[in-house]
Amino acid sequence: MLTIAKEVLKDAREKRYAVPGFNCIADVMIRGILDRAEQCRVPVFLMLYAAEVGDKTFWYYPAIVRAVADRYTIPIVLHLDHATELDVIREALDHGFNSVMYDGSSLPFDQNAEITRKVVELAAPYGASVEAELGLVGGLDVLTAQTSTANILTQPDEVVTFVERTGVDSLAVSIGTAHGVYAQLPKLDIPLLKELNDVSQVPLVLHGGSGTPDEQIRAAVENGICKFNVYADSRVGMWSRFKKIAAETQRNDPLPNDYFAELREALGDVVEAKATLAGAVGKG
Ligand SMILES: [Zn+2]
Repeated sequence: MLTIAKEVLKDAREKRYAVPGFNCIADVMIRGILDRAEQCRVPVFLMLYAAEVGDKTFWYYPAIVRAVADRYTIPIVLHLDHATELDVIREALDHGFNSVMYDGSSLPFDQNAEITRKVVELAAPYGASVEAELGLVGGLDVLTAQTSTANILTQPDEVVTFVERTGVDSLAVSIGTAHGVYAQLPKLDIPLLKELNDVSQVPLVLHGGSGTPDEQIRAAVENGICKFNVYADSRVGMWSRFKKIAAETQRNDPLPNDYFAELREALGDVVEAKATLAGAVGKG
């Protein structure tokens, strides 16, 4: 069922597990994630990446999620990921998103805090939760897979002020992960994370969860990460299954459901693996 992010993350923080967040764009992906999450009793964030919002996305995506959410018993958060424009956030809220991330990480601290505060005020009447980012999680641009931005690690002394000034519900921190597929394995700064979690009034979020070695994800969850985002690993998993099916299929007009089912399974495998890693299995 559709659930408030704040509630889901509160439980995760208390019980020291992380709720996985999966970026997805089509009903095939939404169902792939939800079916396996339900099977494994995993609470999930279904995340729409703001840069992938296109023509009619807001007609379909939130409508599909809202129509099916009640058929599942697990907590489901409908989340807009990495929005940088207030208009897009407003539109998402109008279409029933119950959680939004405003990403002001490329702005100076004061400006980031000021706009995040506005987003919190905007989301309040909808009862929606807000995630913000402090520090900068760099890496590859999702759309081009090319430009690369360097990380700026989150400063513990800025966390308390930022949360107080903005009233944000959760905070994405930069501790060494990056977006996209890694050229070199990351090394997370766990002592820094520990420090951030000790001072933070709100649950912490890890972006760039794909490709991060399992033991580092485990250490991050043990030390305060309550939500972690996955996209690149889902794309890689679905694409390799897609190529395998394409190579094996004899028929020139295969039934769409046959390969859609395979893609859902491939994505489901990623969901199960990540949820297991985050200690989220059985929590939904
Ligand atoms: Zn991210």
